[in-house]
Amino acid sequence: MPPDAQIQTENNFLWVNHHFNIKVPIAKHLRVHNESPTRATMSGMRATAARLQGIIADALTAGVQIRACGSRWSFSDIPVVKNGWVVETANLDWTFKVSANDVDLGSGTSADDLYLVQCGTNISKINERLETKSRRRALRTSGASNGQTIAGAIGTGVHGSSIDVGGMESEVAGIQLLTATQNLWIEPARAPVMTANFAAKLGATLVRDNAKFDAAIVSLGALGIVHSVMLRGTGRYLLNSSLLHIPYGQLQGALNMLDFRGSGLPDQTRRPYFFQVILDPHKMDIGYTTVRYKELCPPDYEADYNLKSEAEPGTDLPRLIASAIKMFPDLRDTAASLLIQSELKVRSDRPHEWRLPGETYSFTSAREGIASSGFAVPIAQVTNALDILRAAFQVHRSAPVVFTCRYAQKSPGILSFTRFDPCCVIDIDGIDTPAARKLITLAAARLEAAGMPFTQHWGKMNDLTKARVRQGYAGNVDRWNQVRKLILPDAAERHAFSSPFLDKVGLNA
Ligand SMILES: Cc1cc2nc3c(=O)[nH]c(=O)nc-3n(C[C@H](O)[C@H](O)[C@H](O)COP(=O)(O)OP(=O)(O)OC[C@H]3O[C@@H](n4cnc5c(N)ncnc54)[C@H](O)[C@@H]3O)c2cc1C
Repeated sequence: MPPDAQIQTENNFLWVNHHFNIKVPIAKHLRVHNESPTRATMSGMRATAARLQGIIADALTAGVQIRACGSRWSFSDIPVVKNGWVVETANLDWTFKVSANDVDLGSGTSADDLYLVQCGTNISKINERLETKSRRRALRTSGASNGQTIAGAIGTGVHGSSIDVGGMESEVAGIQLLTATQNLWIEPARAPVMTANFAAKLGATLVRDNAKFDAAIVSLGALGIVHSVMLRGTGRYLLNSSLLHIPYGQLQGALNMLDFRGSGLPDQTRRPYFFQVILDPHKMDIGYTTVRYKELCPPDYEADYNLKSEAEPGTDLPRLIASAIKMFPDLRDTAASLLIQSELKVRSDRPHEWRLPGETYSFTSAREGIASSGFAVPIAQVTNALDILRAAFQVHRSAPVVFTCRYAQKSPGILSFTRFDPCCVIDIDGIDTPAARKLITLAAARLEAAGMPFTQHWGKMNDLTKARVRQGYAGNVDRWNQVRKLILPDAAERHAFSSPFLDKVGLNA
């Protein structure tokens, strides 16, 4: 392809992720921009799609592997391939209101509830653009921080904030997928939403197919480049947060059944929107519990996104640990317990302090030296799984980590790691020391040896093997590979969008 002003290319590039724990030499780094960054147009979308397809075609000609990446927030090497090409899509951040004429009449969906978002738009931007006084919409869920891009977030199936909603992929109504020769607008046949004319405006062909959609919404970057996503929003709502110290014994019903009776939560008559318990594996006597309740948002509510601080309590462990390292740089080995003392103090928003999701979930600045892993288990198994993780911790007692339990509903992607109905994700988060790494490895081995049903977050530190992926996803591994062959019929292109990791875990069969 001749030089293109919209593509910044660097050869022989050292690709580094947000937290600096993954450093991989790549042959080419391609940062792609829209033609006119400030003016979002459908003709511009078509031009960028063509540009991305040109890059894929060039990679095929060069015989190299190629991956798209977003904000590089993953702690695993899922967005990168050694000696390959990485296409950074984080600058592709156009968003579009949907016209009623473009919505399929039979879909029963209001155009106001739909929002077309280009792949690199980060979640904070989506919140700020949706939650305005004129638009009055919000995302039903997001991760605990909001700097991921939409394509990256669904790329690994980010979960986090709402106990009654699945991972972020559950909010996707349609997805635009690019391969070297195809520009596809994929929707599930069970819930069609847009017209063929809409797809044509994106230069895409409308595909209504449940299996292709369920494969594409959590693609691990292995199906092509996701160029845009149609999100379903909901009416604006406000959240009120509290952090409480509750005896672990009192939390059993909440942890294993999401039954909050007798749990000591501030309002036992209401189901919380968000429920998270952090445990210190040294003691596990107290659950550092964050709970958020939800209310409808008054129409005249004005957002103030400057409310965010670097150390909002009880939400995002990687971020809190980063701030603990910042505060106590010489005390990295004890930072996890200092974190508990300094950041997890009992607190409550005052009764009148209600905030939009975009005001509640904040951004993070990168900091080196954080370890983060996530194990999803069926909720009935939560305290059993915690017992297993705690026994593993006894082997590596110097690991400066905490355990965090967060909840999500079963998610619709074939490879959604939040696949239990419902699901608890237990994170082992902390300072990245050899003991922390060994603990994460041992935790997976112990869960496996105990016959515990579990999956691991694709975008966090993991020790996934072919056997573990097959055990965790059962027949979905074969389903995924079959659908992948339908979307990418050319074996060379399947190889191009694979990686040693995907080969290793059996996702390039
Ligand atoms: C501070 C912090 C907090 C976090 N909190 C949470 C949390 O609360 N819940 C949770 O589940 N996870 C959490 N994570 C993990 C993180 O959100 C996920 O790993 C997420 O996938 C990262 O999104 P990203 O935009 O950075 O994508 P990347 O990490 O760059 O990529 C992730 C995947 O998406 C693919 N991808 C990216 N863009 C495209 C595209 N345009 N087309 C095709 N494929 C693409 C990549 O190939 C890769 O497979 C957190 C991480 C950090 C650093």
